[in-house]
Amino acid sequence: MPSELVIVYHRQPYEEVVEDGKIVFRENKSPNGIVPTLKSFFGHVNHGAWIAWKLAEDVNAPEFEQKIEIDDAYGQYSVSRLPLTDHMVREFYHVTSKEAFWPILHSFKEQYNYDPVDWANYRDVNRRFAEAAAAEAAPGALVWVHDYNLWLVPGYLREMRPDVRIAFFHHTPFPAADMFNVLPWRKEIVRSLLACDDVGFHIPRFAANFASVAESLFDAKIVEREVVPEQWITEDTALTERTAPVRLLFEGHEVSVSYTPLGIDGQFIRERAESPETRATAAEIRRDLGDSQLILSVGRTDYTKGGTQQLESFERVLEARPDLRGKIRLMHVSVQANRNMAAYEEIQNEIEQVAGRINGLYGTLDWQPITLISRAIPFAELVAYYQAADVAWITPLADGMNLVCKEFIASRLDDDGVLVLSEFAGAAVELSDAVITNPFSNRSMDHAILAAIEMPEAARKERMSRLRAAVRRNDVRDWGPGRLKIAPPPARPVAAE
Ligand code: UDP
Repeated sequence: MPSELVIVYHRQPYEEVVEDGKIVFRENKSPNGIVPTLKSFFGHVNHGAWIAWKLAEDVNAPEFEQKIEIDDAYGQYSVSRLPLTDHMVREFYHVTSKEAFWPILHSFKEQYNYDPVDWANYRDVNRRFAEAAAAEAAPGALVWVHDYNLWLVPGYLREMRPDVRIAFFHHTPFPAADMFNVLPWRKEIVRSLLACDDVGFHIPRFAANFASVAESLFDAKIVEREVVPEQWITEDTALTERTAPVRLLFEGHEVSVSYTPLGIDGQFIRERAESPETRATAAEIRRDLGDSQLILSVGRTDYTKGGTQQLESFERVLEARPDLRGKIRLMHVSVQANRNMAAYEEIQNEIEQVAGRINGLYGTLDWQPITLISRAIPFAELVAYYQAADVAWITPLADGMNLVCKEFIASRLDDDGVLVLSEFAGAAVELSDAVITNPFSNRSMDHAILAAIEMPEAARKERMSRLRAAVRRNDVRDWGPGRLKIAPPPARPVAAE
């Protein structure tokens, strides 16, 4: 059945498990990620499609059904599972996307690794995704492509299906030309993106950077700009932008450029936060803490998240302020991912080493300054930690958005708690009542965490209630495919009596 909305996202929209010898498709364990948000858009159309990859030994004879139909709480949709070999996945995802694109998108030139990239394989995988999308899209359908590992999909798809509308969303930062143009494939990538109807980003700065990259590479021209609304402006922060490009003219056609900062599901988090189990867990955590203040840091283990810099700031604070020893505790959740990649293994080892050093220097039998957690905490439990914490310390060196800080705010039904937030997280442009810090400055980092732990109650509550209003104003339900509208479903035919 042709679909009015086709979502192209590399992961499958469920967990596939075998129960009693039968394959069962189960709701993803982590309900807070992007997958349920994307699936919820299927509720707006009669029939949707999702394109993802699935590991196969032989792409021409996969040992699974390539297309399955799902009818669940989100709607009716098919899932096209694109068979890719282990080699293809490693090359397109772990090497090209993670070793070459990811560092450049986050402005880490020194981590950029060009040599192992197999560009022919990246093209091939992207073309396969485009073919699968073209096969599913109804005439005039909206095809919504996600993230840099699928950068070439719009270009191929436009050739195959000139009738469809194409939106592309970047979940990461997008750098300016000086950085982006390090990629030798820059023209091919940007030409593909310019085949979209809408190219979307989290915040105005990333949209502006994209437009400047397009202008640097082609005779593309910004034909409309808009003033950025107050809501997305935090004075004196690194990522704030006053105006943003809205439309680009390229080779005789217009491309809209948009910023739609991703929000969180306020209702979902409120329900978790209000539940008696969560409240009981939070109370237990607080009891165990005694008089100590809890500083909570949560993120993936990635050099972009600034874990080491944060731990070093904590070390400096403990050194400079002996009176705080025994009175503050840092719970540093750094979820280990991709241990098989050298860059991630290195950062994991570094974090373990610095945390161990600090505990060794300052810990006593009954007080350990840092609790390091390398595994993922289930979301329900995480909400209890958000509620029990005095401070959330979120200081990435670069981050497209950062949802953890918004989840912390949404969990604080008591209007208390302080958020210390890096000005290099996309979320900083909308959360002006956080204690904003610059993770590249030791002084700024140390001042911010001290200001947070010493903030009087009245100031904390005033800031938190404003932060809560900001998070409420931009719920995930307000998010969508840039300036494109998902067409309302055509009326279902009425069955003859
Ligand atoms: N998360 C989780 N358990 C953990 C750590 C993180 O469930 O132990 C979730 C967290 O709730 C958030 C997501 O992982 O929804 C991380 O999203 P974010 O945008 O902050 O960072 P990303 O990993 O996408 O860069």
